[in-house]
Amino acid sequence: MSDSNKKRNYYDILCINKTATQTEIKNAYKKLAIILHPDKGGTKEAFQELTEAYNTLMDIQQRQVYDEHISNPFNNVFNKTHRHASSSKVKCKDVSYCINIPLKNAFEDCHYMIRRRMTKVCENCMSFCNACAGYGIFMCGRRMTNTKCPFCFGKGVVKNTYICNKCDNGFKIEIKEFSVDIKKDEIYNYVKIYDGLGEQPIKANEYAGDFIVKVNMILPHNCEIENGVLVYKPVVNIKKLLCGCEIDVPVDLNIETNKVKIEPLFCDPKNVLIIKNSGLFGKNGHRYNINIQPTIDYHIDDKNTIDINKLKDVLNCF
Ligand SMILES: [Zn+2]
Ligand SMILES: [Zn+2]
Repeated sequence: MSDSNKKRNYYDILCINKTATQTEIKNAYKKLAIILHPDKGGTKEAFQELTEAYNTLMDIQQRQVYDEHISNPFNNVFNKTHRHASSSKVKCKDVSYCINIPLKNAFEDCHYMIRRRMTKVCENCMSFCNACAGYGIFMCGRRMTNTKCPFCFGKGVVKNTYICNKCDNGFKIEIKEFSVDIKKDEIYNYVKIYDGLGEQPIKANEYAGDFIVKVNMILPHNCEIENGVLVYKPVVNIKKLLCGCEIDVPVDLNIETNKVKIEPLFCDPKNVLIIKNSGLFGKNGHRYNINIQPTIDYHIDDKNTIDINKLKDVLNCF
């Protein structure tokens, strides 16, 4: 009863003793492969077990490590119930994707198609490594330190004997298409999370990361966004600011033009002209403000006397 619960070691599986030579291992494998092959009436699991035993014992280095493990009764790493550093699941990496949207397109609903290539383990060709139960590591030694599994080289999976022709050496690429509709009131701060479509798991204790789609707004020169408010800092000559002028704002305002009138004497560097509810769309029909904060160009040339006359007019009225 207790014997049947115990996992058979690779020597038991191949029906050989521990001193078997490479030739004996090979012969034992050939004999059993005929019986255990799924096409010959065996099960997939039994055949995989046999192949794994054969591959491990035929590799002199791997066999050495394996022999050490099974000879140490305190080091029960080849039992599937062995202890791991942590039995809790580990999330694979999230994958981020940025949709670049120029500011001028940020005032209407938009639609994007995203194609993502996902690499997945081919289940026909790869199996969890029996030695580490698919974890890639196990605890060994008196201090129970984490050791990289020498059988799967820490990968957690091993290749089966037969590799299918539908994958690339045990891994397959899956193309996923995402149809992303973004309403104009979502563009600012847009984030959409597709659960489980990020990096795909390989080891037994891993689960898929998420695929995260975000919007990156491409802003014109002299523009930035602060808490939804579009802050535009055009360079304006001091004469214009003294006399009053019109400046172009790089977005279509919700008025007829994209020009904004600057009143005369608007020349304190701390001055901010606020255009209410004309900026980015927020939730529930709300629109953010646009703040215009001219950067003053103090350069004065004498060629243009018209401005000087206008300036005299402006100053006379005080
Ligand atoms: Zn392993
Ligand atoms: Zn495959």
